[in-house]
Amino acid sequence: MTPTAQKAARLVQELRRSGISDERVLAAMERVPRELFVPPAFADQAWENVALPIGHGQTISQPFVVALMTQALEVGERMKVLEIGTGCGYQAAILARLCRRVFTIERHRALLKEAEARFAQLRIHNITVRFGDGTKGWPEQAPFDRIIVTAAAKTLPDPLLEELAPGGILVAPVGEERRDQELLRVRRVETGFISESLGAVRFVPLVAGLPRKAAGR
Ligand code: SAH
Repeated sequence: MTPTAQKAARLVQELRRSGISDERVLAAMERVPRELFVPPAFADQAWENVALPIGHGQTISQPFVVALMTQALEVGERMKVLEIGTGCGYQAAILARLCRRVFTIERHRALLKEAEARFAQLRIHNITVRFGDGTKGWPEQAPFDRIIVTAAAKTLPDPLLEELAPGGILVAPVGEERRDQELLRVRRVETGFISESLGAVRFVPLVAGLPRKAAGR
């Protein structure tokens, strides 16, 4: 085993011990090279179960949180998934192994460009990216079987709930304060939406609109 394969296997063991049991999710986490998604200075910590900075005040989520959210999403092979908050692209790369197509929106152009370069380098061809404000959803591509939001909103944006297909699942951190966020899983049923909490989390905020520098471009 290469040193990277050893680190990957160790991380997967840790995820199992923490209660992640979906074998498809664990296999995806073992195979997507997380070291390519973090800044070079953090490459040696890439396989540790920690969140890391990716620039622009943003972070790549802790592997356990990525695994938990992906497992909660119950992604099927033929599904169309929307992600809000591409960041470094790691979560999208995990999803891309599990579903038919991932649509992902990011409001920082530089992060999105870097993520796109990683998808190309890894020959991942089923991710479509969009630069913009994810709180508005992606009407041209809706409905989505699954929606994952990787930044915390005070309340769930209506367009995202509207773009969820019947029977669909949305997973998102929600909370007013950074210290007071919970991970929600929302199912769209015939009569409306059923929401359950999956526990406390800590995410960067979901920010409506575009960063000022980029807004005029
Ligand atoms: N899924 C990412 C996590 C990145 S952190 C990963 O695997 O690395 C959350 C990301 O959400 C940040 O990059 C941030 O810029 C982005 N974000 C915040 N508000 C947004 C919005 N309204 N629309 C699109 N992206 C947003």
